[in-house]
Amino acid sequence: MDVLKLTALELAGKIKSGEITPTEAVYAVYKAAENDKYNCYTSLDIEPALALAQQVERRIKSGDALSPLAGVPVAVKDNICTKGIRTTAGSDMLKNFVPPYDATVVTRLKAAGMIPLGKTNMDEFAMGATTETSAFGTVKNPHNADCVAGGSSGGAAAAIAANSAVIALGSDTGGSIRQPCSFCGVTGLKPTYGAVSRYGLIAFASSLDVIGTIGKNASDVAAAYNVIRGRDGKDMTTCETADVDISSDLKGKKVGIPAEFLEGEISIEVRDCILRAADELRNLGAEVEAFSLPIIKYTVPAYYIIACAEASSNLARYDGVKYGYRTDNAATLDEMYVNSRSEAFGAEVKKRIMLGNFVLSAGYFDDYYKKALQTKQLICNAFDEAFRRYDFLLAPVAPDTAYKIGEGADNPLKMYTGDVYTAVANLAGLPALALPCGYSKTNMPIGMQFIGRAFDEQTILSAGIAYQTKGGAVYEV
Ligand code: GLN
Repeated sequence: MDVLKLTALELAGKIKSGEITPTEAVYAVYKAAENDKYNCYTSLDIEPALALAQQVERRIKSGDALSPLAGVPVAVKDNICTKGIRTTAGSDMLKNFVPPYDATVVTRLKAAGMIPLGKTNMDEFAMGATTETSAFGTVKNPHNADCVAGGSSGGAAAAIAANSAVIALGSDTGGSIRQPCSFCGVTGLKPTYGAVSRYGLIAFASSLDVIGTIGKNASDVAAAYNVIRGRDGKDMTTCETADVDISSDLKGKKVGIPAEFLEGEISIEVRDCILRAADELRNLGAEVEAFSLPIIKYTVPAYYIIACAEASSNLARYDGVKYGYRTDNAATLDEMYVNSRSEAFGAEVKKRIMLGNFVLSAGYFDDYYKKALQTKQLICNAFDEAFRRYDFLLAPVAPDTAYKIGEGADNPLKMYTGDVYTAVANLAGLPALALPCGYSKTNMPIGMQFIGRAFDEQTILSAGIAYQTKGGAVYEV
């Protein structure tokens, strides 16, 4: 049996019935990850996974109540701290960093009997849309190796698409779970801000960052979300939430499409796919209509101002003192700071630190940072208004299919404006599910997203499950 062709829930079912042992599952995923052709992984360490697999076997035998995904190996994005396992955030700065503690999500995976196996490649400090900013090289798209897998969670999405992982954790600050899912034809959930603990997530922009799940379908991402969600005393922005039901529900739902999302930069193929998906949702019993949400044209500037401002502050901790890279080439303390940072940060990260410091500096703060925060509030208000009428929103994920490798270097602005449909959900803190809805003429996957009310992961996941099980295109491995 090919373990990697199973969904996470199917694999867990076979583990429960004794058909496959967790140890066998670990070996199978390890072998696939070791043979990965797309540069999905930054580290792969089987020993700790085998030790956990044996523990899980004992717990299953003793009848310990474990989660519905017990025994399933999980690929973990490399900005999520794993005790004793190198965690690089895709940066030379943390190339040799071995965390002394687990992120809360990792603690929860282990408590649920899931087995972290492999750290996935990503844009440096999660800044990027292609994984080309990674210090560990670009992740290639399994559908066409000349194209990027997207970013920043490109390694995780490509690993699911290429069958070198069964389920994965990613992080999403402005689209980093959803955009690579769209480019690779897999499903990913960006939860509500505060639904999942950020303790142990290497910070990019703390008011926008959220950890989420990536898998083959909406049922898998829902089951994995149930494992990591909920209040955590180590992250005071978290709230208690309930488990989502892994059930389908779309009948009678009111769905709005922001009309502005279907104008402008969007490719005709993506637009047609979204309109076809809207028809499919109607066939499945939903009411779908377009409405106007003009404020979203300010998304990209507001997002980049806020994200860079927070990043410049968060990344100030990498000074060569406590952990991370330290230069050999310094005569004074100041030189040590400057050279450590200059040598170990990549160009994109430096650009964002400079931009962040600029928008926060006296004299510019009011013109940029304060305005961006005001815009964020207006965006929140506009969504509140929309959710009085709609249960969830249907939107594209990216204006086009996966970029060619190298395209971003020629056109960096295009990489930023490509975040227009995703970053808006981070600014408003809303949950969003990205799922495949079709293919382009060149056979590249096209994704859509369902954006829900805050803390209403249930509605978008049930809609996704309905779409994938009763009608629309599900990515076939
Ligand atoms: N592409 C966006 C950026 O470069 C998103 C990053 C993210 O969500 N981590 O900032």
